[in-house]
Amino acid sequence: MIEVRGLRKSFNGIEVLKGIDLTAHKGEVIALIGGSGSGKSTTLRCLNLLEVPHEVTKLELLGEPVALNPDRHGQLSVADRRHLRGLRSRLAMVFQNFNLWPHMTLEENVMEVPVQVLGQPRAEARDTAHRLLERVGLLDKREAYPDWLSGGQQQRGAIARALATEPEVLLFDEPTSALDPELVGEVLSVMKGLAEEGRTMIIVTHEMQFAADVADRVIFLDNGVIAEQGTAQQIFQSPKNERLQQFIRAIN
Ligand code: ATP
Ligand code: MG
Repeated sequence: MIEVRGLRKSFNGIEVLKGIDLTAHKGEVIALIGGSGSGKSTTLRCLNLLEVPHEVTKLELLGEPVALNPDRHGQLSVADRRHLRGLRSRLAMVFQNFNLWPHMTLEENVMEVPVQVLGQPRAEARDTAHRLLERVGLLDKREAYPDWLSGGQQQRGAIARALATEPEVLLFDEPTSALDPELVGEVLSVMKGLAEEGRTMIIVTHEMQFAADVADRVIFLDNGVIAEQGTAQQIFQSPKNERLQQFIRAIN
């Protein structure tokens, strides 16, 4: 599904990803953990091609090799950009800060990309939106604007919107870390349902119990490298890397 080798990314001459190798197979749920600034978000953003990697020895997304030939200013050619746009539409990302469009109702939020970008008829997009909102427990809120909803409801709405394009891979960047503690569970439970459906997911999270519950594989990033990876059992019960041991002590 996703294979990346030797992924490097710098900002202003400072290398923040120092050669990441990551493979996500179809149906696999991967939890990406690590301290603040370790490069988790940047890794996700490179996979979603929101950031252009500086250097990468191999990049395959959704079974397609991706050639990135940035010019010396880091800009991509028109053909590269067109290819990336196509691929990006097959991945969906949910961010930490609920990114629903504030001027649209929940239903309109979920319908927007299918109608405006994919050209679906409105009636069909509305049916899909209702099905997805029902699934995340928000059908009765379909006429509400994001501002009227709790953080947990907004985040569940953002998940419904992400699902509307039938993405092949779901990327989550700390989807619960901006929520009040009592609202975290409802969002995690929607995500757990998606994981159980066999979707391919890469989840950056600080919710270690959740990672232990749903992830097939846990990857610990430290200072721009993968310091250790393994099953949740291996990572949480018998971590080998010293930095990972410290990290786990600090969160317990
Ligand atoms: P957190 O847990 O705090 O979200 P993270 O693991 O997601 O951290 P990243 O956001 O990937 O970390 O950042 C990795 C490093 O890259 C940090 O030192 C950060 O300051 C730097 N960085 C990220 N994005 C940019 C940017 N657009 N410009 C400059 N530096 C950046
Ligand atoms: Mg981050």
